Amino acid sequence: MSAADKADGIKGFLKLNKNRRIVSNGARSVTLREWPDIVFQAKRGYKAKVRDFEPFWKENYERKAFKLIEKYTGLQWRRLASHIEVVARQPNENQKVFAALTDIPRRPYSISLFDVKSNESLSKDLIHELIHSIMWSTYLRDQRTKKIGLFDDIFADELLTELISQKIYIRLRLSKKMDYRGALQYGFETSLEKIADILGVKADPWKLKKDGRKSSAAAKNLRKDMLKKLEKWFREYLRNVETGTTNALKAVNEIANLFSNISENQ
Ligand SMILES: [Zn+2]
Repeated sequence: MSAADKADGIKGFLKLNKNRRIVSNGARSVTLREWPDIVFQAKRGYKAKVRDFEPFWKENYERKAFKLIEKYTGLQWRRLASHIEVVARQPNENQKVFAALTDIPRRPYSISLFDVKSNESLSKDLIHELIHSIMWSTYLRDQRTKKIGLFDDIFADELLTELISQKIYIRLRLSKKMDYRGALQYGFETSLEKIADILGVKADPWKLKKDGRKSSAAAKNLRKDMLKKLEKWFREYLRNVETGTTNALKAVNEIANLFSNISENQ
């Protein structure tokens, strides 16, 4: 075997084992699956994009993203799912407003990507969805009978997922800084969209744009207080999740409580 063959062999071995962790168990070494394999599929019109995106993602972000998601959710991929399906496809009529979607609550290991954008923005969409995936797969694994609450499971869930996503984007140099106002707006937009879906009405919450509206002084103060609270809480969350005293599932309930009073001086 030439040196080049040998190097190729080692590379092949490492590639095969990149999702596995070898754990020494006394005399024996046991190989554990560290995180799921991502299986990409593409429907008509999306094939070329996925062919381009998949190696880009695997090469640049997959391993780091899996690790950072564990770090900032305080949850572990192990034993959640052997693989995650990611399908790039045309959205249905009622999915049009989302860039990507995770099939929660029942199949959180199934992700759809709708927008054909740059590889960087697709990576961001996928990271956001993988955070939904790890959280809801953990609920499923623990067989909690999870009742869906409007505030906790829609607003707080989306807001937290977005905050953790942003933190990971910064770590991966996909963005520069936290945008708390953006995260709050995202939480409300996704809630409005899902509420519209539940009510069976058409809404276009993604068109929430600054239109020169002058908020009242009272509203402005509430907004400032909410953002202040959110920022303070998230910094604390990051400290606690790193020491293992909290995780993303507990944090969803904390966010719901955080905004039970939105003004500071109460
Ligand atoms: Zn989301």
